[in-house]
Amino acid sequence: MSPFLRKIIVKASLATVLSIAASLGLAVTIVPLLGGVVDGNAWLMCVLCPLLIAWPVSAWQFSQAERLRETRNEIARLHRELEEAHRNLSAAHAVTVEKARRDGMTGLLNRGSFLAAVREMMAGTRAGALLLVDADHFKQINDRFGHPVGDEALQGLAEAIAGALEAGHLAGRLGGEEFAVYLPGVATGEARRIAAKIIETVRRLRVAVSAEEAISLTVSIGGATQAGGVTLNELIAEADEQLYRAKMMGRNRAVFPPDGVVAA
Ligand code: GH3
Ligand code: MG
Ligand code: MG
Repeated sequence: MSPFLRKIIVKASLATVLSIAASLGLAVTIVPLLGGVVDGNAWLMCVLCPLLIAWPVSAWQFSQAERLRETRNEIARLHRELEEAHRNLSAAHAVTVEKARRDGMTGLLNRGSFLAAVREMMAGTRAGALLLVDADHFKQINDRFGHPVGDEALQGLAEAIAGALEAGHLAGRLGGEEFAVYLPGVATGEARRIAAKIIETVRRLRVAVSAEEAISLTVSIGGATQAGGVTLNELIAEADEQLYRAKMMGRNRAVFPPDGVVAA
């Protein structure tokens, strides 16, 4: 016999016993008051009626109540499972969104998300500086040591750039061997200091090209400081012009308008 059936039989039997006791109690108190006599037939009816009516009715009622309780428990369990699935889905969604914002090779923000973040930051702050950071003679690294070494060098560069930044600064890979940094609320003097720090951090970087040999890299930086009302495109164009000048002046340096050279 299943535990469910046993439970229903026990409960219905208890209810029937109580019902018989109540019937008998009522019979022996009320019938004499009405001038009647509680005889053998009355006793029989007091037992038979509850047995034939109370038992099946209470068995049915208890089984319905039990089923309802089990269904409620099952719904609560499914609800908990659904909540857990929802939490997992939200976490997976957050990871996917974050992954889509990142450049797969370096882990920095990709071009789209970097520019979107800068645009947002520029809207909320009057001051700020943009640095365009371009690896010098990078093609030679690929040509001399192969593309995989070039890839490693790019990862090293990204780490070096990110390592030179401070809280609140933003770094992204615009594409190829070109990176960008946005420094919200930073004026030219501080931007020059950060640019010099990036150049120094990159200068210390070593990329292994074989078991015995490692090479070093340099970058050129074009900087532009945000003035009131300037658009992101104008800021990029200005920084790009300064980057061109840095390359023309011999690379491995940071140039800001009008003529400031941070490092050589
Ligand atoms: P410059 O100092 O004038 O910037 O010279 P450069 O050689 O760095 O510039 P150029 O634009 O001539 O070459 C960029 C090179 O960067 C060419 C391309 O093969 C390499 N490059 C771009 N993206 C990747 C990449 O994802 N992996 C590797 N290994 N190389 C890349
Ligand atoms: Mg380059
Ligand atoms: Mg380039």
